[in-house]
Amino acid sequence: MRRPSKKHTILVTAGPTREKIDPIRFISNYSTGTFGYEIAREAERRGNRVFLVTGPTILPAPAGVTVIRVESAAQMRKAVLKLLERSDIVIMAAAVSDWRASAVSYRKIKKGKRRMALELAENPDILAEVGRRKNGKVVVGFALETEDLETNAARKLKEKHLDMIVANNHSRKAPAFGKGTSRVLILDRSGERYRVGDLSKRAISKIILDKALNFNI
Ligand code: C5P
Repeated sequence: MRRPSKKHTILVTAGPTREKIDPIRFISNYSTGTFGYEIAREAERRGNRVFLVTGPTILPAPAGVTVIRVESAAQMRKAVLKLLERSDIVIMAAAVSDWRASAVSYRKIKKGKRRMALELAENPDILAEVGRRKNGKVVVGFALETEDLETNAARKLKEKHLDMIVANNHSRKAPAFGKGTSRVLILDRSGERYRVGDLSKRAISKIILDKALNFNI
């Protein structure tokens, strides 16, 4: 049986990035990649062509999705920019490290000093770059905040030229990472504001896709 033709090309980013300090060590974060993988899986299930650019995770590749594995923010940026032209919806759920070591040591840094300072350089903001070049695409970002969720999310929506932002709070009592469920606040460019209660990341992914696809019609 012939498959129906794909409806959209959807680019999704997921997972953490790793920024090398030396051959053995890196800077990263607690992202598991679950949200991005669920979005990619659901987008494929709905008959779209899906590219998933992912940092290191232990998750299996969703069936039918083209997976591009990267490690650092610089590599993620390169992969995203390469696929950007071909995509009409971009959903960036990756927890990109905001900084990298300003110099990477090619040898293992030896211990022995009681104190050590590590200088960091700012990483490029991939989502902001995509927003600047959006050219008719639907661009969706995520925001993980520990305070002022709505104010920060609204600012990012505007500053990064997004169509929609999915914001979630992280606190010690309600961690955003490593759980199958989440509570999010979705803001969109038309000013719509939508709270999603404690639902599985799979269920929230469906809501995110419903909304993103709606923009594209
Ligand atoms: O500004 P903030 O890092 O909170 O924005 C989060 C959003 O921006 C997420 O969608 C994330 O994937 C994206 N991002 C990015 N490149 C960065 C930092 C964040 O694409 N260097």
